[in-house]
Amino acid sequence: MAINLDALFDRKWTCHACETTFVSQRVRSNQLQLLKRDSDFCTHYKEQRLNPILYTVTVCPSCGYSFTDQFSNYLPPHVKKRIQDNITSKWTPKEFGGIRGYEEAIASYKLAIYTAILKEEAYCVKAGLYLRLAWLYRFVDKPEEEQRFLQLSVGEYEKSFTHSDFVNKDKDMSETRMLYLIGELMRRIEQYDKAILYFSKTVEMKNRTIESGIINMARDQWSVAREEYKAKKAASLEMNEAQSS
Ligand SMILES: [Zn+2]
Repeated sequence: MAINLDALFDRKWTCHACETTFVSQRVRSNQLQLLKRDSDFCTHYKEQRLNPILYTVTVCPSCGYSFTDQFSNYLPPHVKKRIQDNITSKWTPKEFGGIRGYEEAIASYKLAIYTAILKEEAYCVKAGLYLRLAWLYRFVDKPEEEQRFLQLSVGEYEKSFTHSDFVNKDKDMSETRMLYLIGELMRRIEQYDKAILYFSKTVEMKNRTIESGIINMARDQWSVAREEYKAKKAASLEMNEAQSS
């Protein structure tokens, strides 16, 4: 299927690790037609091949250093060395700057996650990368991979919440939104007791936030989680009875 190339634009970058200047494409999301938004904020567009999350990661073609807008620009010398030893020394020049398919997008996230770990980026930055990678696997219908990265994401979000590192780092993330998102990711990985706990914490925020939409989502997903928890318990009880009889 042909894609609407008008939505893509070239952006010039300078690599923070090796100072190479290169061009990589981004998407104008206002050119896209929204299809639906999942309960964990994953957005689907009519032209999924142009979903902006496919283009969130920028990969330096000459050294492999991979980053998003949330990464810090400064690389101290010991981090530069780590990137050099672990990424650049194994890097064969590859081009991620043009039109991306899911496969290239997934590869770009894995590179950015590896870079973020080497660079010790904030928990919320790593959490956001894992979450978007899980969404890419949702788009290509690979539920096991999706689950794996949802788990990694929620682990980092919990740490981010405990250390409040999202406050200065992620301008789109409020405390209410974070509590809700952790609850919803816990529900999706079937950690229902934790999901219920985080949804209740979200609803407790109702007099301290203007984000009433999130409070309503938390109430809805809280009852979904309770029902799923009950069903799961009933199923495991039945299983035990069947095994013992
Ligand atoms: Zn570079």
